[in-house]
Amino acid sequence: MKIGIVGAAGRMGRMLLAATVAADGAVLSGGTEAAGHPKMGQDLGRLVGGADLGVALTADPKALFAASDAVIDFTVPSATATHALLAAETGTHLVIGTTGLGAPHQDAVDRAAETVTIVQAANFSIGVNLLLGLVERAATILDDSYDIEILDMHHRHKVDAPSGTALALARAAAQGRGVELDAVACKERDGIIGARPRGEIGIQTLRGGGVVGDHTVIFADMGERVEIGHKAGSREIFAGGAVRAALWTAGQKPGLYSMQDVLGF
Ligand code: NAD
Repeated sequence: MKIGIVGAAGRMGRMLLAATVAADGAVLSGGTEAAGHPKMGQDLGRLVGGADLGVALTADPKALFAASDAVIDFTVPSATATHALLAAETGTHLVIGTTGLGAPHQDAVDRAAETVTIVQAANFSIGVNLLLGLVERAATILDDSYDIEILDMHHRHKVDAPSGTALALARAAAQGRGVELDAVACKERDGIIGARPRGEIGIQTLRGGGVVGDHTVIFADMGERVEIGHKAGSREIFAGGAVRAALWTAGQKPGLYSMQDVLGF
């Protein structure tokens, strides 16, 4: 299967190049970056510190989509929306890991999923996808006498907050409770905020250092506290999951799928 990587010189892009080259059944079809990127034209193998692969970094996503069976996108929301249009135009499957998408970006993804197969996940690790299921189940059992707080900590370069995974965990908790997240979410506290409303789901953000991604979900009652969490030690887990998702798209019907669909959870 021919797999292309957009945003190939990014932190995740480089991991995805290496994971694609290493995966059985995958052939790297190319990689793109934003026009003017300092690594433009460099060999993709050299970009990840390996031997030359004879494929150069380009700024031509249309050619990459046309030459690929699936493309993996861990970039920025505006680029992801453009890539979704190209996927639909060229009939290429798309795997999206970019987080922080606004409504217009998500609309572009949803529209493209009417004609091609798209896997979109805020987190491609197996552990976090297991955690999503556990949180939904816990929220079903622990009623709203348990206050739910979700905490994410990431490296200092992360541009969106809360993390896409924290929001996905909050949605899983809200689903378990049978409530709409928007009606109960609290993403900020400052000053004289008063007592905590019953049923609120708090989502708090920490940023610092090189932390790859830590998430904790706390269910706190007066006499006890349940905490479930996940700590990512390396970006390789996300890259491996995304390549697995790209391989999984072969032969799937058009639609928008999650990593839980890919893993069969
Ligand atoms: P990064 O800034 O290192 O990489 C993003 C890359 O995209 C950059 O190299 C940038 O130049 C490139 N880019 C921007 N516009 C582009 C365009 N038009 N065409 C091609 N490339 C373009 O960031 P990162 O840490 O690699 O994270 C990227 C995204 O992936 C973020 O949204 C992050 O939250 C998300 N992420 C998701 C998961 C997951 O499992 N879903 C895991 C880690 C990171």
